[in-house]
Amino acid sequence: MATTCLLIMSSHPFSTPEARWTAVRTRDSNAVGSFIYAVRTTGVYCRPDCKARLARRANVVFYENIPQAEEAGFRACKRCKPNAPPDHDREPVLAKIREAVDLVREGASRGDKVTLKELSSRVGLSKWHLQRVFTKINRMSPRAMANSIINTMEVEAAETSARIEAARDRRESSSHSSMASDKSYPDETEVHHLGLPNNLQALPMQYDDPDVDSVLRDLFPELY
Ligand SMILES: [Zn+2]
Repeated sequence: MATTCLLIMSSHPFSTPEARWTAVRTRDSNAVGSFIYAVRTTGVYCRPDCKARLARRANVVFYENIPQAEEAGFRACKRCKPNAPPDHDREPVLAKIREAVDLVREGASRGDKVTLKELSSRVGLSKWHLQRVFTKINRMSPRAMANSIINTMEVEAAETSARIEAARDRRESSSHSSMASDKSYPDETEVHHLGLPNNLQALPMQYDDPDVDSVLRDLFPELY
């Protein structure tokens, strides 16, 4: 019995009236899209996270979706606008997603993977919405984006290290060879000789914002 209840609850977290009422009482934004509630005394139906004054439990009816609530004679709440087209708040959401991308990018530039929980509280979108919209717009989750940036930086850093290593090898092999053969690569030897210490110091510059920015611009042109 207990196992069955748990299974039902885990597959549909807002399937029972109790769970729905708890979501309404706590204005749980994670419940948005799972159900609609209506208030008999006002004749209005709302999103689960409506910020309007909480109705009495006895006056609240739950519906699976908007058509059911409208068929029962309720009209949409003007405050939470449950029937507004998805584009209604598209711009604010896009701004929040851009902010989330910035946070992911900032974190990744330091080698950190910002958690969904942290992003959610920083930009003011529920974890569920954030993950869904972010992934839809960017075609990858915040975690995947952080991994992608960090991997790209690591590859670039490794390539830079390899170039520096190769330059050092060439320099060492040419310094071991005779003075005569040294003269066959005068420019290259000179350049690497002068450039090596600077290149080594410049390695952390791979993690600077302009580099990460250009990687992101290539990966997500639609965000710019
Ligand atoms: Zn409402």
